[in-house]
Amino acid sequence: MKPIFKGVKNIFTGAVEIVRAMGVTLKYFFTRPVTNEFPSEPVAVYPRFRGRHVLKRYANGLERCIGCSLCAAACPTDCIYVESAENTDEERYSPGERYAKVYEINMLRCIFCGYCAEACPTEAIVLEHDFALAEYDRWAAVYTKERLLEPHHPPHIVVRDDEVYLSGPTWGKIKAKAGT
Ligand code: SF4
Ligand code: SF4
Repeated sequence: MKPIFKGVKNIFTGAVEIVRAMGVTLKYFFTRPVTNEFPSEPVAVYPRFRGRHVLKRYANGLERCIGCSLCAAACPTDCIYVESAENTDEERYSPGERYAKVYEINMLRCIFCGYCAEACPTEAIVLEHDFALAEYDRWAAVYTKERLLEPHHPPHIVVRDDEVYLSGPTWGKIKAKAGT
């Protein structure tokens, strides 16, 4: 092929590619984005998403945790530390004989496998949905019992319900499940 024809062909091919690329750009210009403005817009997570842990209490305020350390034994990264102590009639924290005097999770080591929650006989430790766990100080990533016992419902997380997640990305129109 003569060089001049080859040059014309290249120009034509390049022009076609530019038009095609612009078409893709234009298509997505009018499509609803699948990203959202975090943290001003909430992020929708699936109901089974495993995020930050919370230690639960019973309705009467007593701690569910009985300090049995089964969660620590199940943890594959050895990031849970439990120190138990005896409840007394004067000082009672949980319904059982023992309670967790010290309960810590090193979130820097956690891989969010959920084995701790599965191992817990009282459903005391639960992985909820928060994923925004960055800290400026690495020691702040060691969550204490007091911190884990605080109810934690950050405004930047909502849980997708079945109706929403079956109908695809609909950021900004997510219905949070009651109590999540
Ligand atoms: S989620 Fe897994 S890694 Fe994290 S504390 Fe629980 S058992 Fe350990
Ligand atoms: S969180 Fe559950 S498994 Fe872990 S020490 Fe407490 S009661 Fe035992």
